Amino acid sequence: MLGLMQDRQLLVSGILEHAALNHGEREIVSAMTEGPMHRYNYIALAERSRRLANALSGLGVKPGQCVATLAWNTFRHVECWYAIAGMGAIAHTINPRLFPEQIIYIANHAEDQYIFTDLTFIDQLEAIADQLETVKGFVILTDRDHMPDTSLKNAICYEDLIAEESAAFRWPELDENTACGLCYTSGTTGNPKGVLYSHRSNVLHAMAATGADAMALRSVDNVMPVVPMFHANAWALAYAVPMVGGKLVLPGRHLDGESVYNMLEDEQINFTAAVPTVWLMLLQHMQANDLKLNYLKRVVIGGSAVPRSMIDTFENVYGVEVAHAWGMTEMSPLGTLCNFKAGMENLDKQARLDIKVKQGRVIYPVEIKITDDDGNELQRDGKAFGHLLVRGPTISKAYLKGEGGEILDRDGWFDTGDVATIDPLGFMQITDRSKDVIKSGGEWISSIDLENLAVGCPGVAEAAVIGIAHPKWDERPLLIIVRADGSNVTRDEILAYMDGKIAKWWMPDDIAFVDEIPHTATGKIQKTTLREQFADYKLPTADAAE
Ligand code: ADP
Repeated sequence: MLGLMQDRQLLVSGILEHAALNHGEREIVSAMTEGPMHRYNYIALAERSRRLANALSGLGVKPGQCVATLAWNTFRHVECWYAIAGMGAIAHTINPRLFPEQIIYIANHAEDQYIFTDLTFIDQLEAIADQLETVKGFVILTDRDHMPDTSLKNAICYEDLIAEESAAFRWPELDENTACGLCYTSGTTGNPKGVLYSHRSNVLHAMAATGADAMALRSVDNVMPVVPMFHANAWALAYAVPMVGGKLVLPGRHLDGESVYNMLEDEQINFTAAVPTVWLMLLQHMQANDLKLNYLKRVVIGGSAVPRSMIDTFENVYGVEVAHAWGMTEMSPLGTLCNFKAGMENLDKQARLDIKVKQGRVIYPVEIKITDDDGNELQRDGKAFGHLLVRGPTISKAYLKGEGGEILDRDGWFDTGDVATIDPLGFMQITDRSKDVIKSGGEWISSIDLENLAVGCPGVAEAAVIGIAHPKWDERPLLIIVRADGSNVTRDEILAYMDGKIAKWWMPDDIAFVDEIPHTATGKIQKTTLREQFADYKLPTADAAE
């Protein structure tokens, strides 16, 4: 027998109208490429999104077609998301940090009809425009006064486009399984693959994100998603904040330590989220200028493992609570967040940090498990580590156009490519990406553990660990270090710092100093490039073994 409850569909247009009706006056603030901060509210967001939906229909955009954005986090970008998806088309966020060939590939693969772009990316688009096969025009996210002189064909001014449109638009009552958003994985191997979110998955994911043991978002919060909207949905925040009616502060293009600090203070932000590299810049800026955070209470950090020293600094120097988070584009992206369970409140500082360096507990409705190479489930004892598999209604079941073939096993589990432990209380800890783990003498060494330890050493700004071929052990770890500004920290000092904090056989065989460590378009250490760079590297321990 079926239940007798209403079949109202879960649609992102419903989030927008809810915010406008119940939190209409709540502020949305954007740092603009063109100049001063822009301010308006949820009523204006909804009204302008409806005008844009009318304009999109006028441009001939049909339900099910993709419309791309190449844009920073600003109010216009949020309007694009709600208008495109709300009318039944698909909002395709393109990561502008991808290589031109990758942008061409994904725009053609998605069959994007229009590209909505910030002024910043005009040059980038001009260089590739003639290779974009399906794009009918470019909408420049600006007003008439700032329209650039551009060779882009059919360049339309955003403000002109919506100026004459009616603010009356009836959002269609779509099936909640209708495609809503598209985001390509960064494709460290092979071509990027399209992850196609539905309205249902986005609404469920945003609801899960607001939960008290997830991001704990409320109407009284002032939230700044520093994580870009083109990086896996800004981790739900462009949906979750309107859902609760929080103040939404969109930081635009300047994400350096000083700009982020000023916005955190000026807008009295109490909750924010981004990858560790952003926080590294912020902490360096604050340390160099002897600054304090007067409003920030909580920060979600994920996308890469968060070093213990970063959590320690945020919590014990600046009084900001850190929630370490893990997820992936294919998971909308949130999978786990590290928030304490009952009984953990009174642990001492080191014991708290021991927990906080873990990626945390699943948020409902995500399921996780770890398996061995044969697919047998491993113990949740905090020691056994294996392939991390995930399942749930906010997780991909296939990539766009079937790329990559079947991605689920017989029971519907998706292999994340990560290696992890799960402890008896359900706290998951990533040991490594399966392709980055160092295989030494038949045992595994976690590159993440070594990196996190090394960045705690005074004088070290950033650390990366890769496996280097070794005649006896198969692979041994090479530690690659970027020194902090003005530091002369030596190989021996770093090794002495690490000694005794990890098993002897985990100690790096050598240390290489570099000026810069390469990062991917989403701020992760680019291990493939480092492996190429150090392909001919000979470890000092190799000779002895030969
Ligand atoms: P990309 O950023 O490359 O587009 P994703 O954002 O989907 O792709 O990356 C997902 C991967 O990032 C995860 O599978 C995991 O390896 C890594 N990752 C994300 N969060 C964390 C974390 N907190 N700790 C360690 N690794 C993480």
